[in-house]
Amino acid sequence: MLNTLKKIAFERVGGTEEERRVFDILAEEVRARGIEPTLEAFEVETFRRGTGEVTLLKDTPVRFNVNPIGLSGSADLDAEFRYIEPSNLPFAEPCPGQIVILPERVSFKHYEQLARIGAAGFIVVNPPGHKPGYHSLKKNFASRFGKIPGAVIGYEAGLKLISNAKHMLHMSLQQDEFVGESHNLIATIEGERPEGEIFVCAHADSVAGSPGAVDNGAGCVEMLGLIGHFAKNPPRRTMHFCFFGSEELGLLGSYAFVERHKAELDKIAVVFNLDVGGDIFGDNKALITGDQDLANFVDSHNKLRGMGLHVTRSIYSSDNMHFARYGIPSINFARSGLGASLGHSIDDDLRNVDERSLRSLAEIALEFAIVTANAIAMPFERKIPKDISDEVTKYFGERFGIET
Ligand SMILES: [Zn+2]
Repeated sequence: MLNTLKKIAFERVGGTEEERRVFDILAEEVRARGIEPTLEAFEVETFRRGTGEVTLLKDTPVRFNVNPIGLSGSADLDAEFRYIEPSNLPFAEPCPGQIVILPERVSFKHYEQLARIGAAGFIVVNPPGHKPGYHSLKKNFASRFGKIPGAVIGYEAGLKLISNAKHMLHMSLQQDEFVGESHNLIATIEGERPEGEIFVCAHADSVAGSPGAVDNGAGCVEMLGLIGHFAKNPPRRTMHFCFFGSEELGLLGSYAFVERHKAELDKIAVVFNLDVGGDIFGDNKALITGDQDLANFVDSHNKLRGMGLHVTRSIYSSDNMHFARYGIPSINFARSGLGASLGHSIDDDLRNVDERSLRSLAEIALEFAIVTANAIAMPFERKIPKDISDEVTKYFGERFGIET
């Protein structure tokens, strides 16, 4: 598995040529397992990561490198700046033309407030010990509220900014934004039973600047293992395996999929989502976006087989969420840990991953896939209960500004 991961662990942002290259590699891998996959294209607004700097305009100017936040545009401006606590954003007085410093990624709710107070720009300070990454805004932020240029700065540089807050700041950001073509790659293995299909997925794209080994090259190679197994051992129920594109740009691949396949979603009994794996210092988890009986099924199987799986019932910020909107429950197999905490950064590379850790979660996912795909009757209901659907609604509202 590690050898396959090595082939795809390179930066591959949704809608770019690199993402397309990863889909070509994955399609070859699927074919090598005896299945002919289908590639479905969709348009995305995307970007090529750019460069930026901010300069404290003191007598002797002090310059810091920053990473422009994707889809937030370019900038060349002088402004005052100040730190605003995220929980205080809704109460902040207007500060037109200022740059706002924040300690966390900007959600739809944050962005709405930045627009309300007239911020000219914003700077997100990275956590200590992490190299600054290049995350991006969701495409509808700017279309709803206009462009507010943003950047990520390292923690130490952030400290220096804050201690000089009486000075003006010059912010200069350059980045390319364009409409690109992203893809979903789907492989289907037909079973003899017409109802109760199993949908397995893993996103194939990475965050800008990141080799995306743990997040989510690992999930892709885990899924290839499942495809290999079921190609040789046909399941009783039909199984779909989907590599999603542009998850990191805002779950765009799974959105394109559910929109295009609306009429077929009724047939899907459960989603197995493989997102984040392979961490050497990791711990295997199953997050159940579904009813208690699904969590009970997973946990009792975990106990019977001594899998060492941590089972919780909650939402998971990944492609499973669009299926939850259509009442389809999911088991999200993830491996959290020290290396996984470097996800979305340039340090999410092969150093944090080994064969044993990749296999540990792949084998667990395979076992659940075998049991479910061959079940005479499903041991759980296809249902999203009220407490989870409320969380799903809140998630899409606050992070994406989407009504569900
Ligand atoms: Zn991911």
